[in-house]
Amino acid sequence: MINFEYARAIDVADAIRQMAADPAAKFIAGGTNLIDLMKYDVERPMRLIDITHLPLKTVDETADGGVRVGALVPNSDLAYHPLIEKRYPLLSSAILAGASQQLRNMASTGGNLLQRTRCFYFYDVATPCNKREPGSGCSAMNGINRINAVLGTSESCIATHPSDMCVALAALEAKVHVAGATGERTIAFDDFHRLPGDTPQLDNNLQPSEIITAIELPARGFAANYSYLKIRDRLSYAFALVSVAAALELEGGRIKEARLALGGVAHKPWRKPEAEAALRGQAADSNTFAKAADILLGGAKGFAHNAFKIDLARRAIIRTLTQAANGTPQIQSSKKIR
Ligand SMILES: Cc1cc2nc3c(=O)[nH]c(=O)nc-3n(C[C@H](O)[C@H](O)[C@H](O)COP(=O)(O)OP(=O)(O)OC[C@H]3O[C@@H](n4cnc5c(N)ncnc54)[C@H](O)[C@@H]3O)c2cc1C
Ligand code: SF4
Repeated sequence: MINFEYARAIDVADAIRQMAADPAAKFIAGGTNLIDLMKYDVERPMRLIDITHLPLKTVDETADGGVRVGALVPNSDLAYHPLIEKRYPLLSSAILAGASQQLRNMASTGGNLLQRTRCFYFYDVATPCNKREPGSGCSAMNGINRINAVLGTSESCIATHPSDMCVALAALEAKVHVAGATGERTIAFDDFHRLPGDTPQLDNNLQPSEIITAIELPARGFAANYSYLKIRDRLSYAFALVSVAAALELEGGRIKEARLALGGVAHKPWRKPEAEAALRGQAADSNTFAKAADILLGGAKGFAHNAFKIDLARRAIIRTLTQAANGTPQIQSSKKIR
């Protein structure tokens, strides 16, 4: 690890000011991703701005019936928060499917959105990687690409976004509140992360000095009919090969409202309005679910080691929608650890 300076921000304005003054700086929250990346020499910030003392640690109900989650709320506190367990169990379930209890205790809500890909070559500084070093090439394209993307890929990069929490936030249509040198703004969750295109070094649409201050959940929580299913190589402590967040509202056996998002298959949580439209107004049965799965996976393209993900995702989508419709959500194995 190279030498770096350390500074503590006293409030949000101070954090923005410090970041705007030093483009080579990085915010640090739980440090569970950033410190690893620094140890691997992938990230080389000259200065760390510690934001852990900022007052962004509460979970509050909003005037319009939603919930606002401060960017520094730890992942474990969020998963077990009574409001989240009761009204947004999909989010709780997705968080508990990720990492380990110790990591979730450290990991922050904002940091989870900004965690970087787990592509092997991104971490291996001896190999070309367009995300780490733009223009150097993509080692995964013709390398070991079992964990890489099958949707929304580009000639430059086939990385996936590794978060579980973000897949649920996409399905719930959360909003991301950010603040920067030019003021505050709100970004729809679907617009927060980017596809790689020819700028794979950019994971998201955050501007350089901006800080995430909160995530806002809309009132609709899909608490009765939801499921988060994560398929991975090991039952715990592994990233998703494929994950599915499904949320339904049912009326008389038919689907009134539907949300469907995939993790582990693209550079961002993967949704398609057409797939959700194909569920609305239909009977909640396997034919309907299979049609939605085919639409959501339309255009999927596998590489040498990951083509299996396409069929795996299709079956996982049907299973997760069935669990949601039956009111029998996937139980996460870590649920009992508190
Ligand atoms: C062994 C291991 C297994 C894991 N398994 C999973 C898993 O299965 N599923 C999963 O979803 N995740 C998993 N994770 C990832 C973990 O969830 C993330 O590392 C964590 O959420 C990052 O949060 P943090 O607060 O520690 O971020 P940090 O490491 O502190 O920061 C990450 C990035 O976000 C930036 N940042 C942090 N907060 C803000 C903010 N408020 N505004 C602007 N920028 C900010 C930092 O500058 C940095 O670039 C795993 C991690 C490890 C180490
Ligand atoms: S897939 Fe993306 S992150 Fe992985 S080696 Fe290629 S450019 Fe780098």
